[in-house]
Amino acid sequence: MKEILRVALAGNPNAGKTSLFNAITGAHHKVGNYPGVTVEKREGIREYADARFQIIDLPGIYSLTAYSLDEVVTRDFLIEEKPDIVIDVLDSTNLERNLYLCLQFQELGIPVVGALNMSDEAEAKGLRIDVGILSATLGIPLVKTVGTNGKGVEGLLDAVIAVLAKPAAALDPSKAPNYGSEIESRLAPLEKAIASDREFALRYPPRWLAIKLLENDANARLKLDQHKRGAEIAALAESDRHWLSKHYGKDSEIVITEQRYGYIRGALREAVRKVPVAHVPVTEVIDKILMNQVVGLPIFFLIIWGIFKLTFVLGAFPTALLDRFFSLLAAGAQAVIPPGYLQSLILDGIIHGVGGVFSFVPLIVILFLCISILEDTGYMSRAAFLTDKTLHAFGLHGQSFMPLMLGFGCTVPAIMATRTLKSPRDRIATILAVPFMSCGAKLPVYVLLAGTFFPKNAENVVMAVYLAGVVLSMLSTIFLRKTVLKGKTTPFVMELPPYRLPTWRGIFWHVWGKTWNYMKKAGTVILVASVLIWVITSFPTPRTESLPAGAGSQQLAEYRLEYSVAGRIGKFIEPAIQPLGFNWKLGVALIPGFTAKELVVSTLGILYGAQTSDGKETETLRQALRADPSMNPLTAIVLMMFILIMPPCFASLATIRAEAGNKWLIFQVIYSFSLAWVVSFIVRVVGGLIVGA
Ligand code: GDP
Ligand code: MG
Repeated sequence: MKEILRVALAGNPNAGKTSLFNAITGAHHKVGNYPGVTVEKREGIREYADARFQIIDLPGIYSLTAYSLDEVVTRDFLIEEKPDIVIDVLDSTNLERNLYLCLQFQELGIPVVGALNMSDEAEAKGLRIDVGILSATLGIPLVKTVGTNGKGVEGLLDAVIAVLAKPAAALDPSKAPNYGSEIESRLAPLEKAIASDREFALRYPPRWLAIKLLENDANARLKLDQHKRGAEIAALAESDRHWLSKHYGKDSEIVITEQRYGYIRGALREAVRKVPVAHVPVTEVIDKILMNQVVGLPIFFLIIWGIFKLTFVLGAFPTALLDRFFSLLAAGAQAVIPPGYLQSLILDGIIHGVGGVFSFVPLIVILFLCISILEDTGYMSRAAFLTDKTLHAFGLHGQSFMPLMLGFGCTVPAIMATRTLKSPRDRIATILAVPFMSCGAKLPVYVLLAGTFFPKNAENVVMAVYLAGVVLSMLSTIFLRKTVLKGKTTPFVMELPPYRLPTWRGIFWHVWGKTWNYMKKAGTVILVASVLIWVITSFPTPRTESLPAGAGSQQLAEYRLEYSVAGRIGKFIEPAIQPLGFNWKLGVALIPGFTAKELVVSTLGILYGAQTSDGKETETLRQALRADPSMNPLTAIVLMMFILIMPPCFASLATIRAEAGNKWLIFQVIYSFSLAWVVSFIVRVVGGLIVGA
């Protein structure tokens, strides 16, 4: 067994960490042209030159000050789990800001190798970086890389091996940035005092902690509680800060920050040359239009509308083909398997249940394809900017935009993406708003119902339901901001990345990942649940003598269903949902919606398909739904509203619990249930008046 070297990839958001991670490990994780994509650390293995590297991809951060959750995750990981080395991924086109973090790694006493990533872009911009001079000045080995095509990766790993061969040399204190004699003369006694507790100093590097104390870092002050002479050191630091701020006429933390930037600028002046290039400012030209005050937002809405159109128009044909395929499969199964329980299980339980969910794969593929193109080109970040003002008006935040957008895909990553929000209140508000964004699993339910009851303009109805979700999320946030989440939103700071052509490889892997997850779910959770639902809709069976005499086959099937476990559950909850116009069958169909929303489709397939198994999948179900006297277009809309608002699936609830705690989980469930009921009821009553009039 080779020794495992633990290598952490860290750096500013959007510097290309995930791209490099993929290039090093051969993995296919999602890269994105906006901050907040990598919310949890990911790990991968790479074997190279007799070594085995465990690579850890950390969330992007600007500093180690531990203001946001991402910074805390990264900093705690570095301090508590001490990786062997950090690869700091630097955006070569913006070294001044990127190196700021690099210095902090150096101070933290962790061996660092810098990847001068985006070296292709820097080159194109006319930045000529002398790697030798810059490495020597900063005392950090640097290697030029291109994350998107893996150029320089081997050189980077060579540099890592070289540093790890002589870790002590990498930490030579004479190479760390010098803060100038005034600050250094304050740092020295602090460092000495901290080092007096040997055990403590092993855990927290004295120089790093001394600097943090001069920066008035709250988290660092807390750590002093574990020090024998903690109180004394805190007092010393306090007087030092006081002296610094008087001497320089500004806060000590600003003094330190300026000192760091000065040091970086000095190094860059030595090592970087700018040559003039014929320069076409593509990004600026595009932004003149897309970020325009007047047409920016309308263009944004047009794009979103276009995506919907494209999804349904392009998706219609392959969806019909898949539907046809499952119909043939069902017909075949019916011909081969003799009638009885086995035939019923395979036809009604498996083919109707799983097939119904599978035929929506093309729609999912197209939707995710569009979303990931928007993400990778850099347009999503712009959309966050465009919508920031609007979101603030509702009590959300420009940084809420990404989680909300991701919510259209899947609620789970969307809730995790709220970690980029710094204020806990903004974060909870966003977490509670996300489930209103219809996730991919709700799409099949809407398509089925809208297609059945509004065949002429199904996609407009579906889009209206999506829009209703957006409007409700805003109204709900206003309400929550006035009641349980009182307080002002914090201002928004984010920078816009340049537009980039997405790589087809990246898009392919993203879409494939999402689609594969959906199909896996259809093949596992949905399959098992479909069989279970078949069991509870088929058993117990009434005795033949008790069947009503002279009833037609349709009525007999209905009677059997009522007699089954599912029928009894549906009857039991019927009084609660009757005011919404739902019969007991819809009640049965809603229950598995807690596990996964797609299950509503497959359950309806089983409940209604049980009556007519003539082997034409969705169409059969549609006819059966239309034939049900208690179903009509209004019920379909009310049902869609209920499914839109009701609590999200179990996986999402588990994520809410992990991110926001039990209190908010319970709140979310009760709140969304009540709201779903009330809104559905209003829609039914108002809709009834309109239809009746
Ligand atoms: P992260 O936020 O640091 O994980 O960054 P990502 O790996 O998600 O990359 C952000 C964007 O930069 C993506 O659109 C990548 O395709 C792109 N990118 C990453 N590395 C390079 C590079 O070396 N050159 C160029 N031109 N683009 C890159
Ligand atoms: Mg990333």
